[in-house]
Amino acid sequence: MARKAFLIDMSRCIACRACQVGCKQWNKLDPEATVNRGCYENPPQLTPQLYNQMQFIEQDNGDQLRWLYLNKRCMHCADAGCIKVCPSAGALYHTPEGLVGFNQDKCIECNYCVNGCPFDVPRYDARKKVTKCHACIDRIANGMLPACVKACPTQTLRFGDRDSLIAEAKAAGKKVYGENDLKGLGAVYILEDSPETYKLPAKPAIPASIFLWKDVVKPFGILGFWGAVGAALLHYVTFGPKKLENGEDHDTPEKGA
Ligand code: SF4
Ligand code: SF4
Ligand code: SF4
Repeated sequence: MARKAFLIDMSRCIACRACQVGCKQWNKLDPEATVNRGCYENPPQLTPQLYNQMQFIEQDNGDQLRWLYLNKRCMHCADAGCIKVCPSAGALYHTPEGLVGFNQDKCIECNYCVNGCPFDVPRYDARKKVTKCHACIDRIANGMLPACVKACPTQTLRFGDRDSLIAEAKAAGKKVYGENDLKGLGAVYILEDSPETYKLPAKPAIPASIFLWKDVVKPFGILGFWGAVGAALLHYVTFGPKKLENGEDHDTPEKGA
């Protein structure tokens, strides 16, 4: 199946936050008490009840103030740190379209995926189960657009065949963030400034500690376990069952028993 993706063109965004509202409505996410912090960004970050969030970056250039907007969400990475580090098979998974879904029934509440994500995306709900944008898998399976995409009035958010969306953006002379990072993000962006200006990593990477755990410590742990089993078997085959010092087998019944 051809890989699907979001193309998010921040130059088209008017920061109306219909995407936030559309997502909350479709996913029946609860409203949250918020605080006026003197800006339109509200809440200030993703929450268990907010799967996509509008960020406002204010730039004061002396005589001019510039606002940049970012729609923050799960990037649906092909090389997904959250999946890589998760010890519970199926709690986080790739769909046939290449998106990253989650299954709370399989979540064991260990929080590892928070550390494995280069974009600080996964959150934990009141039941301490993982939650995040799931790309509206339920809608796209029925031929509908994700709710946030449907709600966006300016086509800042688009969803479809990943290769076609990227080719279209490049043909229009746009630079695409996330085309090849982490084997290609499932949410690629057209930005109006450097990724760092948007507080996005220029070269997103899975934390090295994850590789240490997944590729070194865990395999060595398994190797150590099976090594011990192998050594015990070898010892049994070579020397037979262990004898007690007086020459009796462990299993020899006690006299009179
Ligand atoms: S908390 Fe995260 S790492 Fe742990 S099982 Fe759930 S999804 Fe996987
Ligand atoms: S952005 Fe984070 S939560 Fe989303 S797929 Fe990538 S690693 Fe997983
Ligand atoms: S794709 Fe669906 S779950 Fe993800 S942010 Fe948009 S509306 Fe929410």
